[in-house]
Amino acid sequence: MRNLIPNIPAEIDFGPKTYAVELVQELESSEHVRLNGNHLADWSKMRLDADLEEQHVYVVLWHEIIHAILTPPELNDENKIDELLLEAMVSAIAYGIVEVLDRNPDLVQYRGRRG
Ligand SMILES: [Zn+2]
Repeated sequence: MRNLIPNIPAEIDFGPKTYAVELVQELESSEHVRLNGNHLADWSKMRLDADLEEQHVYVVLWHEIIHAILTPPELNDENKIDELLLEAMVSAIAYGIVEVLDRNPDLVQYRGRRG
């Protein structure tokens, strides 16, 4: 597999899972729609299109991380929110996190007091 994305984490550790970050050529949904990324909770994978421009990789990875955060077991079929609303929210949060981290480097270092 061609890897044009340097220094991308191989794994994201979150909740009870460690997600493998995979680069996929011509990433598509099961309906054959071209995707920038997707999050496969059942397979503990976050997949990114291998041809993403580097400037988009970070925000797409954050997008998939937020999908993982917003996929707790209690969000089942009965109380799922609308897919379009979910995508809009996930995108807004991902772009927001990336912008906050980019514009506030001190925040990246600051971890607060824990425990
Ligand atoms: Zn999404």
